[in-house]
Amino acid sequence: MANITAEILSLDQIREIAITVLTAAGMDANGGSLIANIVTQSERDGLRSHGLRMLPFYVQSFQSGYANPVARPLIERIAPGVLRGDGDNGYYQIAAALAQDDLAGIAQENGIAAFTCANCHHLAALRFDTESFAEAGLIALMMVNSLSMVVPQGGVRPVFGTNPMSFACPRKGMAPVVWDQASSMMALMDIKLAAAEGRDLPRAAGLDSTGQPSTDPKAILETCSLLPFGEHKGAAIAFLVEVLGAALAGGALSVDNADRDAHGALNIKGGSTLIVIDPARFGNASFDDYLTRICAEIEGNGDARVPGDGRLKHRAAADSDGVAVSAELISQLRNIH
Ligand code: NDP
Repeated sequence: MANITAEILSLDQIREIAITVLTAAGMDANGGSLIANIVTQSERDGLRSHGLRMLPFYVQSFQSGYANPVARPLIERIAPGVLRGDGDNGYYQIAAALAQDDLAGIAQENGIAAFTCANCHHLAALRFDTESFAEAGLIALMMVNSLSMVVPQGGVRPVFGTNPMSFACPRKGMAPVVWDQASSMMALMDIKLAAAEGRDLPRAAGLDSTGQPSTDPKAILETCSLLPFGEHKGAAIAFLVEVLGAALAGGALSVDNADRDAHGALNIKGGSTLIVIDPARFGNASFDDYLTRICAEIEGNGDARVPGDGRLKHRAAADSDGVAVSAELISQLRNIH
């Protein structure tokens, strides 16, 4: 592995760098603050691939005209349980922040509610789209499609994006259970990170130029052909995300990526669906006890842990000790603005 020198930054310092870069790239105070929070929270959670390292991609998307830095999304209630968003070609989180309170209120009234959003971009970890609902006692399930680079099982060309999903649910007396994952064996940004750091991948995550599964991140980035996780099962989940993300919302399909080379884009203006459920409206008064029981069966079970709980350990450490950030990345970001 290449020798990486790092500096320790506090979360406040990370947020300040993010705000400075995003503001210089044209974002207004509201959008800049939302994205800077996500960048900071990603570093806090140990998600290095989706933290500060993502800022140059946000900047490039604005400078190339691919994304709108000052988006004014529109949200409409088009059915009793459905909010539909148009992201005004900005980042998803700006639209979602506008829909958040209504969505939670409708779920509490009806038991279930959905928010779809098209004409928007998403470059972040999805956990930040679901966690706040679980903190408010609700269940949330989120899907977003992205730029095609995942080959269906047995196929020879990409059809799906890395199509991530996130699930969050409340857990009595503790932080909620929240997980998020790509439908690909690995997230694209983790492959890029490994290439930048000169490491092989822990498992074959894509195809090389001869069509063989490879652990060489550079070979995979050349073909841009990633493998789904779990063979046909991951490909089926990627299919689900494509339908609930692009088709339901009316966003671009992952294969509709004509602008990819022009903008060096990491994503497309795809679509997303966020489903919010109020367990209190579903008639099982013992829902919390079920959750406690399921988690108890996992904890203390060999090395198993509740999915997503790794973030809690990272958070505690980042809050007290700060976060190690590559000195090269800090210098690159200081040169952007
Ligand atoms: P990982 O495979 O790293 O992790 C997937 C989930 O599993 C996480 O919630 C993780 O949380 C949890 N986990 C990991 N190891 C274990 C374990 N041993 N036991 C229990 N749970 C575990 O994620 P991916 O590489 O698939 O995705 C990385 C990120 O990229 C995600 O945040 C995803 O949302 C994002 N992404 C965003 C895209 C976009 O278009 N915006 C596209 C694709 C991905 P923890 O380790 O904290 O427990």
